Amino acid sequence: MSYYDTYLRYRECDWNSLFAEPSERLVNNALDDEEVTVEQFLAMLSKNAVPRLEEMARRAHELTLRYFGRTIQLYTPLYLSNYCDNRCVYCGFNADNAISRKLLSAEDLEREASLISATGLKHILVLTGESRQMSPVSYIKECIEILRKYFTSISIEIYALTENEYAELVGAGVDGLTIYQEVYDENIYAEMHPIGPKSDYRFRLDAPERGARAGIRVVNVGVLFGLDDWRKETFLMGLHAKYLQDKFPDVEVGASIPRLQPHAGSFISTHVVTDADIVQAILALRIFLPRLSLTISTRESARFRENILPLGITRMSAGSSTCVGGHTAEAIGPGERVPQFEISDMRDVAGIKEMLKNRGYQPVMKDWVSV
Ligand code: SF4
Repeated sequence: MSYYDTYLRYRECDWNSLFAEPSERLVNNALDDEEVTVEQFLAMLSKNAVPRLEEMARRAHELTLRYFGRTIQLYTPLYLSNYCDNRCVYCGFNADNAISRKLLSAEDLEREASLISATGLKHILVLTGESRQMSPVSYIKECIEILRKYFTSISIEIYALTENEYAELVGAGVDGLTIYQEVYDENIYAEMHPIGPKSDYRFRLDAPERGARAGIRVVNVGVLFGLDDWRKETFLMGLHAKYLQDKFPDVEVGASIPRLQPHAGSFISTHVVTDADIVQAILALRIFLPRLSLTISTRESARFRENILPLGITRMSAGSSTCVGGHTAEAIGPGERVPQFEISDMRDVAGIKEMLKNRGYQPVMKDWVSV
């Protein structure tokens, strides 16, 4: 039994009618009940729940305070490499894009790490494109060993690995895994990932579970909003997160709903996702899974990120760059700054910390020490 079996139960659904059916009673129950069912989760994502967003926001806020207090964990992404064998149509690092490619050397990495660490951040998220030739697991492991000198918690957002490979990186000091399915609909997944190892839907879908089995402490799943109907994708991702929570009670499960942003390449989304849609998705996820950590990325504007804080957000990136070597201007030459995608909230770590304190939140720079 894997999450794919759950997915198969919904694969042939008529999603339009599912989300359009009357669901007022189910929304009422979701707002009152301590245990929220899958049917109630679906109802909270439906169009009929739109007039109830204020009530949902109150409930989501109350649950967030109960399970997380007024704390926001901060981290920043660090890109090791943008070499990639995949052709994800929505990504600036797509192998077909004629961009400058770069792989951080040990010296580059030391510079990046020491600069980021000086901001006070002790949680780092390490990213690479998918090239087993240019950035093999052995290279990533060497990088983790360097990063351990600077950070107490190291998460990876890299290509899907086998369980043994995840275990190898856990041994090197990795404690967190972020791996987005991007889109759960298998047919759309095939269109978005036409060529390259990432086109293996099942290998990617089962990666969070392999990571959890290998001993990873924090596992984050996600969907890229803009590739499919956001209601359906949020529902399928919520079920995936619940599956992982139920199967691995010791693992901290998190989720993220990044929205497609401009990037090198020509793909244009036909699935518009509004701010109100993102709010509804966050509220439904928080009420359905009160212990789920929820991340909002710097893809979103500063104003929007601040406004949705009380609704259920528990993690934020700060001082972000989506370029390889982007944290140190010295590490990249003129004209070589190629972002994976554009970010909106450009504030540095100090700026984000100040904003959080002004809003009555405690910015958490370190809450874990790997041994
Ligand atoms: S999303 Fe990741 S795997 Fe796909 S092209 Fe971009 S870097 Fe490569």
